[in-house]
Amino acid sequence: MNPPIETPQEPTIAIGLSVPEAQACILDRIIPLEAEEIELAQALGRALAEEVYANRDLPPYDVSAMDGYAVRAADLTELPRTLQVIEDIKAGDMPRLSLQPGQCSRTMTGAPLPSGADTIVRVEDTRPLENGKAEFLVPTKPATDIRLRGESMRQGDVVLQAGEEITPATVGVLATVKRAKVKVVRKPRVAILSNGDELEALNEPFDPRKIPDSNSHVLMAQVQALSIEPALLGIAHDNPDELTRFIERGLEYDVLLISGGTSVGDYDYVRPTLAALGVTMRFWRVEMRPGHPVAFGTSEHTLVFCLPGNPVSSMVCFEQFVLPALRRLMGHRRLFRRTIPVRLAQAVKSRQGRAEFVRATLSRDTSGAYVATPVASQSSGDILAMARADALLVAPSGRNGLVTDEIAQVQLLETASWQHLPDTEK
Ligand code: AMP
Ligand code: MG
Repeated sequence: MNPPIETPQEPTIAIGLSVPEAQACILDRIIPLEAEEIELAQALGRALAEEVYANRDLPPYDVSAMDGYAVRAADLTELPRTLQVIEDIKAGDMPRLSLQPGQCSRTMTGAPLPSGADTIVRVEDTRPLENGKAEFLVPTKPATDIRLRGESMRQGDVVLQAGEEITPATVGVLATVKRAKVKVVRKPRVAILSNGDELEALNEPFDPRKIPDSNSHVLMAQVQALSIEPALLGIAHDNPDELTRFIERGLEYDVLLISGGTSVGDYDYVRPTLAALGVTMRFWRVEMRPGHPVAFGTSEHTLVFCLPGNPVSSMVCFEQFVLPALRRLMGHRRLFRRTIPVRLAQAVKSRQGRAEFVRATLSRDTSGAYVATPVASQSSGDILAMARADALLVAPSGRNGLVTDEIAQVQLLETASWQHLPDTEK
């Protein structure tokens, strides 16, 4: 076994920051990565690196918003009224005839309005007659059920801003303006390293004395949820030489996530090894629970996050620090999980001076308001309890415990955007 090593000087390190101070320390050092041009089909989840403009008016002409008849509203002042149908216009057709008094054209949804027409009457408000005539039964006003030229977008309009996230609807906007390729911010290259003599890799034979390495896989999944494919470097023993070799490889990436070995144990070599490799450690030990031993450092090209080995601590620290950092690198403007106010089903213990992230499930009370219930086990080693949580309930550092029925903030986790039945159907 290796002897404990001396921690080299860490002159710039800030110890005992609050969560927002630690987040600022990270985010202040990050600007988005370079842009790249990719196919629209690959763009979901990325952030735009350019402004996007409309390349035509949409609709390109005034169109009918309904199946019905294009008419002159002045013809329908007295009802019922019979008009001569002079033409059938489908979406995709161009009208050939302009309307004279007493005439109308049959129009399908999306069909261009013929000249002379100033309104649409829905087919339900009419009755077809023999010999190419239709009877109009209901009063109308000009400009009813018409989508005007340029109503959705006008040529030259900025339709999307740089930094906007590409969602399915955004893909729709991009396809509408015929962008088969788009400029987005490139994805960061992320490496994941686990550290600990006790760890057993997923593909190693079962050994009852070992602890299975779950963190590598959880971190990988958390990164994949941002549509980034990370590299798993493997498991380094608690050994400075081995750690050095692994970390040297990790420093070739934009972001290195190291799980374990960042605490104050005699065999926690991660921080001194990083410092010896020229990584400037920026902070260590944030006033939070779980996750207190988290540390962050930077080298010329790499952001290094040292996450505590306890599986829940690692996940919570990823949510608070790594997630916003990766999103900023990717060019996103919205960096944090959505928080919502909820009522507490029971009191929550916390200590003033330290933010507490409580794993909780969400339900609705009879009034429809969200209620948070802490999951039974709040152990930072209990990955099963984390797997049951919908949200992280935040007891802010200014509070000494939260009481039953008070309104507190929760951060929604990945699963919280899904439910069994739409409430609107109940
Ligand atoms: P450490 O942060 O190295 O002091 O580890 C704290 C606790 O987390 C120990 O009980 C470890 O066994 C556990 N742990 C460390 N790394 C991992 C990992 N990759 N997967 C699961 N548990 C881990
Ligand atoms: Mg360890």
